Amino acid sequence: MDELLPPNLIKLRHVAKDITDQVLAPEAQKVDENAQWPSHAFEALAQADLMGLHVPKRLGGHEQGLLALAAIIETLAQGCSSSALCYAMHCVGSAVIASKATRYQQDKYLVPIADNRHITTLALSEAGTGAHFYLPQTQLSRVDGHFDIHGTKQFVTNGGHADSYVISTQVSGQTSGGGDFNCLMVDHDTPGIRWLPDWRGFGMRGNSSRGMQLDQVQVPTNNLLGEEGDQIWYVFEVITPYFLTAMAATYTGLALASLNQTIDQISHRTYSHAGNGLADQDVIQYRVAQMKIAVDRCRALLYRAAYLVDQGHPEALTQIMMAKAESADTAVYVTNEAMSCCGGRAYQDNDAQARRLRDARAAHVMSPTTDLLKLWIGRQALGMPLL
Ligand SMILES: Cc1cc2nc3c(=O)[nH]c(=O)nc-3n(C[C@H](O)[C@H](O)[C@H](O)COP(=O)(O)OP(=O)(O)OC[C@H]3O[C@@H](n4cnc5c(N)ncnc54)[C@H](O)[C@@H]3O)c2cc1C
Repeated sequence: MDELLPPNLIKLRHVAKDITDQVLAPEAQKVDENAQWPSHAFEALAQADLMGLHVPKRLGGHEQGLLALAAIIETLAQGCSSSALCYAMHCVGSAVIASKATRYQQDKYLVPIADNRHITTLALSEAGTGAHFYLPQTQLSRVDGHFDIHGTKQFVTNGGHADSYVISTQVSGQTSGGGDFNCLMVDHDTPGIRWLPDWRGFGMRGNSSRGMQLDQVQVPTNNLLGEEGDQIWYVFEVITPYFLTAMAATYTGLALASLNQTIDQISHRTYSHAGNGLADQDVIQYRVAQMKIAVDRCRALLYRAAYLVDQGHPEALTQIMMAKAESADTAVYVTNEAMSCCGGRAYQDNDAQARRLRDARAAHVMSPTTDLLKLWIGRQALGMPLL
């Protein structure tokens, strides 16, 4: 896709490719086997000055948009999807902070992020509302010049490793889910945070996507991002486009890596009895064509959608929803096909192909889930309200 990217993004993508080949890919199997959070990936990304991708230039960052996010995450995911997802959540979190940061929030969070010494992440999801991530039940009360936060987040990627957490809560004083919410910053060492058991996921095993209990956690009122009840703006202007692009890029990169490895393995598989190879079989050629079409369709949707969001195009949100839904279908389809085409060896070895099959499954259940996205895309096409 370099043909569609401006020179500065091609450069950034090459930096990401070096990290992918030299740091992420060699460690990916270990990350998966040991469910190990990829600190090595963050060290390499920090060394390459990539932590402030969405931070404004005047604060030391790259001030990049969604096309850059798509290109970098898609590249990283080809080496290690867990590492790509962990970095993706940092990028989405930093974009949320940057969108309306006060001077205090710029100094406290964005400058250290741009200086490659601060990791942030997004903690929205809760057990009570599940896939409906835009309906937090975590409570917020305003007490003597600070906020008290009480509730439990689930599946917090980078949980226990990030320096700060962008969390969602109800607006202060609200007791039951009315749909309004706030975003605010919680620092990792704030008293009252308790981490629930270690992440032992079926896939994305390096993610450390843990539960986070917030028991009367006190944060200063200047940790509030934007205004109380700013949820429509945050959900549609920042969280949804950045999050969907990051997810779509992760699963597109994973599918592309799976396709490439499948082609390589098929090309090297020969038969002694017939003197030919697996690549000579018509059915295999057909299956590779189907996989390649699916991956290329997915990449085209992703890059076009990211470009349209960066341009502020009115169709952008629908396109980015489609890109994420398509990336989930494609990642699951391609990794499944890869396991068949690569035969018993892929099954026996439980190596990169099998790992990607397990990692791909997370795509459907990560919010906004494929079911919800398809409902929203259909409703929008029918001229109905999304929610
Ligand atoms: C690897 C991983 C990393 C994650 N990282 C983060 C993170 O960093 N931050 C964060 O906030 N969250 C994160 N999540 C959480 C994620 O975004 C979802 O919120 C969560 O997976 C939803 O799971 P659930 O079991 O609560 O789903 P449920 O709500 O129980 O849904 C189960 C299924 O039913 C479907 N469904 C539910 N309601 C409807 C409906 N009305 N119509 C149609 N279908 C419906 C859903 O699509 C889903 O497929 C992560 C999840 C995973 C697996």
